[in-house]
Amino acid sequence: MDLIKNKKLLMHVGPVDIYEEVLYAGLKNNVGFTSEEFVNAFRDSLKGLRYLFQVDDTYQPFIIPGGGTSAMESVTSFLTKGDKILVVSNGVFGDRWINIFKKYPVEVDYLKAEAGDYVSIDSVKEKVKQKHYKLVTFTHVETSTGVRHPIKDSVKEIKDYVDIVVVDGVSSVGAEEVKAEDWDVDIYLTASQKAIGAPPGLGLLVVSENAMKHLREDNIASYYLDLKNWLPVMRSMEEGKAAYFSTLPVHTVFMLNEALKLIQDEGIENRVKRHEKVAGTIRAGIEGMGLEIVAKRPDAYSNTVTGVMLRKAKAQDVLSEIIKEGVEIAPGVHPSLQGKYVRIGHMGWVTPNDAIITISALERTLKRLGEDVRVGEGVRAAQSYLT
Ligand code: PMP
Repeated sequence: MDLIKNKKLLMHVGPVDIYEEVLYAGLKNNVGFTSEEFVNAFRDSLKGLRYLFQVDDTYQPFIIPGGGTSAMESVTSFLTKGDKILVVSNGVFGDRWINIFKKYPVEVDYLKAEAGDYVSIDSVKEKVKQKHYKLVTFTHVETSTGVRHPIKDSVKEIKDYVDIVVVDGVSSVGAEEVKAEDWDVDIYLTASQKAIGAPPGLGLLVVSENAMKHLREDNIASYYLDLKNWLPVMRSMEEGKAAYFSTLPVHTVFMLNEALKLIQDEGIENRVKRHEKVAGTIRAGIEGMGLEIVAKRPDAYSNTVTGVMLRKAKAQDVLSEIIKEGVEIAPGVHPSLQGKYVRIGHMGWVTPNDAIITISALERTLKRLGEDVRVGEGVRAAQSYLT
């Protein structure tokens, strides 16, 4: 048995390390999709989503198969032919919205930030004042760079000019402050495998009453991702009655439900604070060893992903060497910084101890690869951050 492999710490951007209770919740051999046990788990998960996104009963929650991308693409359910859309993109996953909408008969405009930054609130405001957009999309935490967008302030500035505001919270929900209702966000979405700490397989959304009015019969969505087809299932399940449109990943829903229960036990404010603490420890460690973070400004630092700029070492070598130290991290995927950085994911059930282990393994790895790092100083800075 390879001990290191077996004890590996997963500091990835999703799927993340999964709590045992969550995994065990999916180990069921005999639950049908109409069973009381499944219907109850589904109903509780729908309620759990309202807590997670901080919305009341006026918001309609959806749990659909797939993940972040299916949740994103299902947003086409609120569009009709010729609608105008503005995508606010801070990187690879912001750009994904453009690629999705290009497949549909709509008009897409976009604003893009350079790697490590986010599109300024002023430029979004200027754009929405020039043209009436049916829908505007934001990415709360851009996973490709670890940049956090100021959602609350941006939405406040533009809400009067647009019909539907959508936020991709795939790398934020469950780890960053998210108040969909207070912030007047119409559609907030995420996936099961990130800060919620469940396995991949589910796209999760909450939709405001205002946006639900746009869920029309003549919408442009594909058959499978048309939320009009999923709505009766959600409504029926919430009333405790089984329903079918297409088979749901039953076992993954049990695991999601357990994760949502654990989140409610921890309390969302405590969970956000824990993520803040872990992220702060990681950043202190990175800066302490003398390296730079991809996100350009402290207000763009996220609780969930930290991009680490490399000076000499190649990203691929860092990834393969740090695994030998018992830690798995993620490659940098922003095209303009390809090969020049790595990402540390810190979401789900992460602890400050995980941060210290990651920093110490990174120091050793980088030194071995010829990077000019101050070995020991990263750990020292991380420890002093914590104390
Ligand atoms: N949006 C963001 C911000 C993401 O990080 C990801 C996945 N990394 C997605 C969307 C797509 O999610 P999925 O891979 O589950 O389709």
